[in-house]
Amino acid sequence: MFEKVLIANRGEIALRIHRACHEMGIATVAVHSTADRDAKHVLLADESVCIGPPAAAQSYLNVPSIMAAAEITGADAVHPGYGFLSENARFAEIVQSHGLSFIGPSPDHIRLMGDKITAKKAVKDAGIPVVPGSEGEINDPEDAMQIARDLGFPLLVKAASGGGGRGMKLARSEGDLVQAVQTARAEAAAAFGDGTVYLERYLEQPRHIEVQVIADSFGNVVHLGERDCSLQRRNQKILEEAPSPALSEDQREEIGTVVSTAISSIGYLGVGTIEFLYEGGEFFFIEMNTRLQVEHPVTEMITGVDLVREQIAIAAGEPLSFTQEDVRFRGCAIECRINAEHPRTFVPSPGKVREFHPPGGLGVRLDSAVYSGYSIPPYYDSLIGKLIVHGACREDVLRRLKRSLEELVVTGIETTSPLFLDLLNEPDFQRGDYHIHWLEHWLAQQDS
Ligand code: ADP
Repeated sequence: MFEKVLIANRGEIALRIHRACHEMGIATVAVHSTADRDAKHVLLADESVCIGPPAAAQSYLNVPSIMAAAEITGADAVHPGYGFLSENARFAEIVQSHGLSFIGPSPDHIRLMGDKITAKKAVKDAGIPVVPGSEGEINDPEDAMQIARDLGFPLLVKAASGGGGRGMKLARSEGDLVQAVQTARAEAAAAFGDGTVYLERYLEQPRHIEVQVIADSFGNVVHLGERDCSLQRRNQKILEEAPSPALSEDQREEIGTVVSTAISSIGYLGVGTIEFLYEGGEFFFIEMNTRLQVEHPVTEMITGVDLVREQIAIAAGEPLSFTQEDVRFRGCAIECRINAEHPRTFVPSPGKVREFHPPGGLGVRLDSAVYSGYSIPPYYDSLIGKLIVHGACREDVLRRLKRSLEELVVTGIETTSPLFLDLLNEPDFQRGDYHIHWLEHWLAQQDS
């Protein structure tokens, strides 16, 4: 097992990884920007190294600085968390070339799945159903028009290197297409340094359902069921739940088995998520995330599996501590992403947190790096905590969630917590009857 892990991240996920390491008897090294000197991940880690100024490009994305920190502290592995360098194949290679372990899949798998065009092809060949679309990249407007006529409208122009819900443009008809391709290409080139785009059928009212997998180096592949992440704003997840209110046990078993078989044939290692859109009883692959995800706790709550612990053990060459037959899904869990943002306008609200009182009690988990007196810096994403609630059934969870949100106190800044209290009053949400565009429609209604 590793003796010392460098955590190349910040915020709640750095803390989550630190906790797993300490429970495994592993020392931790925090890295931080000058804006994060007082951050909780720095205060709790065994050692910490300042890796640069506030801008992420000069700190949390600064590979030479991070590698120097690993070398100085004698870390033997690097955990990238999510975001930042977590899906950067070159970073994984550099870590390995320095003789350290990268806690994640192989650089080849990161690269394969990092390009959505190659990812779609790979999983399709492995037996996973994909969203109908262009076979590969779109080269010119005529090419796009021909493919679009074959596929039919509406279509989504998507960036091969896209992420974070960016780099997508909708074309409802032929008249929109050329403009959509041009805009998507320009945006993708600016945001991801790669203007490659492809076409996909636009699904009108799908759910976003993703399957968690975990694979070790002994050929064991296990799926841990699905998460329903259909509550989204601007293609970004706001709330996630497991199991999905839309799936039966048989459907869960079926898609889980398809995914496990595919992941096994690809030879994937570590934790990963296969994301689908689900509409009309059918699954359509959109992408694979080759890292731990923000919403991993809902899976942990219903399975009792510590995903980070297993992920670290797998990277250290150990086998999975359980088999598919051992996995039992117990009850239901919902996660709310608490952002430092206004609950209606979503305008970021960084600044000093005067009071912070987390809720507690049975089935309540709050993953957060905030404390009373902490100043949320304006340089990074606005996620300040995840409230995860577990219960025997969805009704229990909704009641517990309401009680927990009412207990949560964060003063000094705005948070999205009141949004969830409002959603809990909505019959559609109460019934679990919502799709990926539901929240945006609901928000528009509230404004009008
Ligand atoms: P990213 O990598 O930016 O997160 P994804 O491909 O995972 O991009 O898609 C993010 C979200 O965008 C999905 O959860 C869904 O809400 C929406 N989306 C993506 N592809 C489609 C599609 N073909 N039809 C309708 N919505 C889509």
